[in-house]
Amino acid sequence: MSNEEKSADLRSRKVLAMRDVQEAAAAGASRILVAETCVVTPSARDFLEQRSIELAPCGCADSSHSAPDPSPASNVRAPSNPRLFSTPEAEAIKKEICAVGKKLWMRQFVDGNGGNISYRIGPNEVLCTPTLVSKYDLTPEVLCMVDLEGNQIAGTKQRTSEILLHLEIYKSVPEAKSVVHCHPPHATAYAITGKVPPNMIIPEFEVFVGKVAISPYKTPGTLEFAQTVIPYVREHNTVLLSNHGIVCWADTATHAEWYAEVLETYCWTLLLASQLGVPVSYISEQQTSDLLEIKKKLGLPDIRFDTSRMKECQLADVEGNGAIALDPTPCDGNTGKSADPDLDALVRSVTEAVMETLGK
Ligand SMILES: [Zn+2]
Repeated sequence: MSNEEKSADLRSRKVLAMRDVQEAAAAGASRILVAETCVVTPSARDFLEQRSIELAPCGCADSSHSAPDPSPASNVRAPSNPRLFSTPEAEAIKKEICAVGKKLWMRQFVDGNGGNISYRIGPNEVLCTPTLVSKYDLTPEVLCMVDLEGNQIAGTKQRTSEILLHLEIYKSVPEAKSVVHCHPPHATAYAITGKVPPNMIIPEFEVFVGKVAISPYKTPGTLEFAQTVIPYVREHNTVLLSNHGIVCWADTATHAEWYAEVLETYCWTLLLASQLGVPVSYISEQQTSDLLEIKKKLGLPDIRFDTSRMKECQLADVEGNGAIALDPTPCDGNTGKSADPDLDALVRSVTEAVMETLGK
């Protein structure tokens, strides 16, 4: 669709990828209308900048598109509602956060009072863990609630200072419902060397994480630190934090913790293999394609679904800089519903298919 200014109307897109902007450019568009919540991949953004094509979020371009956007990604925030803190939904999520905290501690992903967990419960309300409490000792009573600017709006304990990191992710990724930050030793070993783990080695890692990025070091707890992840989180569900730890986002706290487990086990396995004195063997491209088919069935995103960006993906692999973009749709792609009840069955089918693939 275009008007006299040759605008391409892509407001129905959740994600604007390279292929979309190339098509719009080929059609002669000088401006692309997108929803305010639309996630624009870095390569698409670069492409638009290079060609001086204007990106017009809906409602900002002109008066003809002024539908209000209640999304948390919008610059205009709804007033926070402290009453959300005690709703049945919040109570259920608090229990999930406590369970995830115990898992993190028992797997030695956190130490002292390290690590933190949050969950976006409303457009401007985020439940989070308090400062100075071990993740093993979490109870629903000690949890806090903040607004998207980090102001505490409920809870008696003081919220974690690292909530700013979580909030930057929620502001950047509309699909992110929960964030888990922790310090798993093997993944952190990569984070302190500035290396990202290679791909095409272990199927489960390809399916659930696929690619990780690494963000630069800044002092933890500061806004400057929180903002280091902004360039990566739209396209990576898992990011290594230089000289610090990792952060993962997903549609639930349980799933975000899964990604931490998958990354940690992967890094651990790679480090063990590196001591054996023989090279690691890689999964073939065909076998990787089989895994990506499984990943599609799970509803998980992956840059490699987009063949137009394969070259970019392969280049980044060679450079080992992790500059890979994932379409940031979490697990089942939902943005407000509870998790897919069939997820367990899907995970089982993935595991079976992965075993079959390995047996080839
Ligand atoms: Zn930390």
